[in-house]
Amino acid sequence: MPSRIHVLRLGHRKGRDPRITTHLALVARALGANQFLLAGDNDESVFANIDSVNQRFGGKMSCEHVNSPIAWLKNFTGNGGQAIHLTMYGIPYRTAIKEVDSESEICIVVGGAKVPGEVFKICQHNVSVGNQPHSEVAALALFMDSWAPAPEVFEGADLVIRPSAEGKDVLDLSKD
Ligand code: SAM
Repeated sequence: MPSRIHVLRLGHRKGRDPRITTHLALVARALGANQFLLAGDNDESVFANIDSVNQRFGGKMSCEHVNSPIAWLKNFTGNGGQAIHLTMYGIPYRTAIKEVDSESEICIVVGGAKVPGEVFKICQHNVSVGNQPHSEVAALALFMDSWAPAPEVFEGADLVIRPSAEGKDVLDLSKD
């Protein structure tokens, strides 16, 4: 059984970030995260979006708002979890990933506008996807792809997409 994967998004701003935070949550879900944690502003609209995708396409990634991400991370790392902070200042991910215990629960931390310095100290791994600034969505996707294969089956799906070279092939199980 693969270890559990949490994704923690820091510093969400309700007015500016819903689209990119939703993309982070969608990538987290599609690539196999069990839980998406939102820090910064609480934003039910992000969670509602993911719930709606879960209902149609299956899977059970849960979403939760955390008031204190620092306290959450301290508790997580203090109880055997491995926290991986994605930052352009870190160690290249293909090297760093070898140091992460593959049996442990992991939390992948992605920053927002300003990442508190403490995050670098609490997380056991500060990991870069290239040492240039780019996007938290790209960094998350590339790291997760290297960590484990994306799940092929999402339990409870109404809609199942069958890979096709010719066009859309979608099985609608809700019509059975
Ligand atoms: N200005 C912020 C700071 O104080 O570090 C960073 C802003 S950046 C758009 C938002 C997030 O994208 C970062 O916190 C990091 O998680 C992710 N990110 C951007 N470039 C990255 C890279 N090259 N490698 C890993 N993560 C990256």
